[in-house]
Amino acid sequence: MRITALAGGVGGARFIRGLRAHLDRVSPESEITVIANTGDDISLFGLRVCPDVDTLLYTLGGGIDEEQGWGRADESTRVQGELEAYGALPQWFTLGDLDLGTHIVRSQWLAQGQTASEVTARLAARWGLPEQRIRLLPMTDTPVETHVVLDEGETQRAVHFQEWWVRLRAEVPASRFVVAGLDRAAAAPGVLDALRDADVIVLPPSNPVVSIGIILGVPGVRDALRGSTAPVVGVSPLISGRPVRGHADACLAAIGVDSTSAAVAGLYADFLDGWLVDPADASVRVRGVETAVHGGPLLMTDVDATAAIAADLLALAERVRR
Ligand code: GDP
Ligand code: CA
Repeated sequence: MRITALAGGVGGARFIRGLRAHLDRVSPESEITVIANTGDDISLFGLRVCPDVDTLLYTLGGGIDEEQGWGRADESTRVQGELEAYGALPQWFTLGDLDLGTHIVRSQWLAQGQTASEVTARLAARWGLPEQRIRLLPMTDTPVETHVVLDEGETQRAVHFQEWWVRLRAEVPASRFVVAGLDRAAAAPGVLDALRDADVIVLPPSNPVVSIGIILGVPGVRDALRGSTAPVVGVSPLISGRPVRGHADACLAAIGVDSTSAAVAGLYADFLDGWLVDPADASVRVRGVETAVHGGPLLMTDVDATAAIAADLLALAERVRR
């Protein structure tokens, strides 16, 4: 079976890890293609940082800081301490020493003329993704960046997504998101093929606006989903109207969408076939979408709990296969 997933960082990575664990039990030959959001990418100190790709690499490769959900386990921040001593800015974005190794090698390979896809494939090889039959693709090789237009009354100011998310903790209301470069971007090699050739397309519980929503904006992606003959099924990132972690509610508010599981499914209604929700959201109904209720809390507390969510999602995909 070929499964294609769209993914952001923590929610996407944890889900894919559970999906792989489930498939290893029932269908080890299955292949997973992950199309990663690159709208969060940022250049810092001359280095290209790709937070969602890195979270996917570290989580799937066994190097993640489990508690935090992002960054490397057993990390230190000695380099950042030096940067601080020099008064180098910005200091609100954590760059661990081990993590910097990734950004340095990525930046070097990009400077040598390799594409983001080529670089990601080399990074993925180090983390053992090919051996797990996981192919990690950036959504595009074109540098794109999500910017947030802040709602500050009279004045309008845009900041990089990371500044809004990390430094401002999404507490300053956003009036909209603008993805610089996205309209001129092309889907990375393999992305549209992976959507066309998939047996099942899955949406992990990634942020619907700034993770999945950005990938859907890559020219051709949304059309590929609408035209898909394979079932498209997703896991709700909200439980009883609240994001399990992060600020998805602030992102939804910015685009004028209710913070409910039903409203999130509504964002995907033009291509979504099945939606998996928490028992607390059992009453959710979305026109044209088959809803299934997970047998327990829709929480990716550990790999086994996540594998059970993935199992339910694939069962739903079989029910809605058209
Ligand atoms: P990010 O790029 O690191 O912010 O990660 P993603 O966009 O991939 O995922 C973030 C979303 O995952 C948030 O909206 C969370 O609500 C959702 N999420 C995180 N953990 C869980 C979980 O255990 N269960 C569910 N249902 N959603 C989760
Ligand atoms: Ca992200």
